[in-house]
Amino acid sequence: FDMFVLAFVERFFRPTYKKDDFILGKKLGEGAFGVVYRVSLANKKSSSKKEDDLVLKKATEYGAVEIWMNERVRRACANSCADFKYGFLENSSKKGAEYWLIWRFEGEATLYDLMQSKEFPYNVETMILGEVQDLPKGLERENRIIQTIMRQLLFALDGLHSTGIVHRDIKPQNVIFSEGSRIFKIIDLGAAADLRVGINYIPKEFLLDPRYAAPEQYIMSTQTPSAPSAPVAAALSPVLWQMNLPDRFDIYSTGLIFLQMAFPGLRTDSGLIQFNRQLKRCDYDLVAWRKTAEPRASSDLRRGFELLDLDGGIGWELLTSMVRYKPRQRISAKTALAYPYFDKEGLLALSVMQ
Ligand code: ADP
Ligand code: MG
Repeated sequence: FDMFVLAFVERFFRPTYKKDDFILGKKLGEGAFGVVYRVSLANKKSSSKKEDDLVLKKATEYGAVEIWMNERVRRACANSCADFKYGFLENSSKKGAEYWLIWRFEGEATLYDLMQSKEFPYNVETMILGEVQDLPKGLERENRIIQTIMRQLLFALDGLHSTGIVHRDIKPQNVIFSEGSRIFKIIDLGAAADLRVGINYIPKEFLLDPRYAAPEQYIMSTQTPSAPSAPVAAALSPVLWQMNLPDRFDIYSTGLIFLQMAFPGLRTDSGLIQFNRQLKRCDYDLVAWRKTAEPRASSDLRRGFELLDLDGGIGWELLTSMVRYKPRQRISAKTALAYPYFDKEGLLALSVMQ
């Protein structure tokens, strides 16, 4: 019961909130399972203005799982995700019971917002690296910025996966730029599964975003019996994890983000959907897709291949080891981080300072 004692002690020293503590601000998002607002505190419990800038999600019944995931993340891999403050059940609402979840307001922009700009990836450069000198714009420089974003994404993902959590909804809309720590963090654990303790063991496929979902329908083998009791799952899950590699579902989605960063044409919804159709026709073989796409490629598409081909093609190599049909053939987040693609990362920061 250590975990529960710890959780209790931590709770005791952390601020707790209730409904009337918040003044609702701008609506930030609305999905099928909840509404998200920027909020501030009514009666200041904190001294600093920064701690007063919060995000509230009013969630349906799935909010219980999301609170559980966020509590686990803040204890096990706090830097991977948005800074979670508190979650509680709010019963007084006319709509019935709602779960309220509170985070620090990390920043204005998701990776999706940033990717919509014509300036991308240059609009991210100063955010990550501070003031940059006016270096010539070009593929090398874009590649360095994209490398940095990919490294931060994989680092956050490795934290989640090492904790036993599969996110299952990795997409640019669920990656937020934290203005305080100047890194990208993952948000929205609403579809996440914690395989070590069997929480949300049965995949909720209907929650998955088809644009970023890997081809496998089930992240765990369908041979795996349905949700065992929590203690049994806790004992079994490291083994099941090894057998089924459920983390590779997130790797596939992250590979699609990599693709979108390299190819501006794939950043729109229609572009991505069209790409997905083409890839499916190639049996999810990226090399085969390239063979069909490159000969009749627009200059925009050709430029993306050129970027991935830099430094002997290590970017392309990394991409093709993430976007693969079989989960087992996809690289893990930890192995990806050790990939030569990231060796040169940081050189931009150096060249900027010279
Ligand atoms: P949904 O279930 O609606 O997708 P999310 O958790 O993804 O809920 O949040 C919706 C949007 O709210 C995000 O895309 C992002 O723009 C914003 N948001 C969520 N959490 C934060 C945060 N901690 N800081 C700043 N913005 C956030
Ligand atoms: Mg979301």
